[in-house]
Amino acid sequence: MTRSLLLGCIADDFTGATDLANNLVRAGMQVVQTIGVPRAPVSDVDAVVVALKSRTIPAAEAVAQSLAALRWLKAQGCGQFYFKVCSTFDSTPQGNIGPVAEALLEALGADFCCVTPAFPENARTVYKGHLFVGDVLLSESGMRQHPLTPMTDANLVRVMQAQSRGRVGLVDHAVVRGGPERIRARIAQLRSEGVRLAIVDAVADADLLALGAALRDAPLVVAGSGVAIGLPQNHGLAPRPEAAALPEPTGLRAIVSGSCSVATQGQVADFLACGGAARAIDPLQLADDREGLVAATLEWAAGELKEGPVLVYSTADPGSVRAVQQRLGVQQAGALVEDALAAIAKGLVQRGVRQLVVAGGETSGAVVQALGVEQMRIGRQIDPGVPWCHAAAPACDAQLHLALKSGNFGSADFFRKSFAMLA
Ligand code: ADP
Repeated sequence: MTRSLLLGCIADDFTGATDLANNLVRAGMQVVQTIGVPRAPVSDVDAVVVALKSRTIPAAEAVAQSLAALRWLKAQGCGQFYFKVCSTFDSTPQGNIGPVAEALLEALGADFCCVTPAFPENARTVYKGHLFVGDVLLSESGMRQHPLTPMTDANLVRVMQAQSRGRVGLVDHAVVRGGPERIRARIAQLRSEGVRLAIVDAVADADLLALGAALRDAPLVVAGSGVAIGLPQNHGLAPRPEAAALPEPTGLRAIVSGSCSVATQGQVADFLACGGAARAIDPLQLADDREGLVAATLEWAAGELKEGPVLVYSTADPGSVRAVQQRLGVQQAGALVEDALAAIAKGLVQRGVRQLVVAGGETSGAVVQALGVEQMRIGRQIDPGVPWCHAAAPACDAQLHLALKSGNFGSADFFRKSFAMLA
């Protein structure tokens, strides 16, 4: 008999979905992440995380996509639902956190949910409803100048109220510290006052564990990835190695990097310093002869792969990136490089690569699409937020291990560490 799904999650972006899946695995659940609403059913796991790209699209579209994901998860028999939002609460007065949360509540026939982006391990804490990013208020962090979702108010009760129809309240830290019973009592009180959504304070893992226990019977949780550490315990699950078990690694090893973030620059430099086989991709040369450069890179890789992992990278310092963008245009340069790196990743898998590390959020999206990956089983964490995954790549008729690392994640030796962990 197949197990029924305990938790159905809807994430508003791809790397956020992986972050949530990773936390659920660490807390003892077996998890599959899907790219968009899946076509095929998923079996033999405790939780599914459906990754959408709905954070900054028009609110009505975000609602429609989230409801489609909810319908699919309900059809799989999920008992509880989790809407994963950004840990910096990225949103505007138009949404999308409020509209999606309220639409999910309505579709579930529920009248209340808790909301918190807190994840103390990642330096996201909420106190008296105010979100701190590291040592500063959200409104004083870099998020103040975000191009799409500038966060100029750290008071999440106010931020949430501006984008919600129902009343927004607060479960403050004095209550959370009092434990699950106190939290449940406060929730009952807020509900009786007609509050529909409540921001919850949390400044330490103990707060998230208490909140998780209090939310045992809640139909919907709206949160960053932090609350995930407190939910598996409600099903008698505790951290265990089997949760992260993946099939045995096989095949050749490669890294494809299109991230120009500071952490990735360090990781590429580390790989080069250790004498790894690497090939840089020049976007201007790509613009001249994409086919020729992709073919030449794959031919070079074919000669090196047997010796050890190869690295193909467009990673460059900000000065070089700006120069390329001035020549080609920002969007055009990005799309050109993503498309070429995705073609190279596919070519590498066709040449026997079965352990693939991809650096860059957008780059990962392009690679996953080129490989035709629809779902990934989540394995052990390499560095915070980045697990090894295992997936079918129908475009190459292959199964492989994948690690998708967004920009600023991972230590300097991340590439070497990744393969060492699989070996
Ligand atoms: P990160 O997660 O670090 O933000 P992404 O892959 O999401 O990485 O974004 C990096 C973007 O920069 C992609 O669109 C990629 O194609 C583009 N890019 C990569 N290398 C270069 C380069 N050398 N010059 C210009 N753009 C580049």
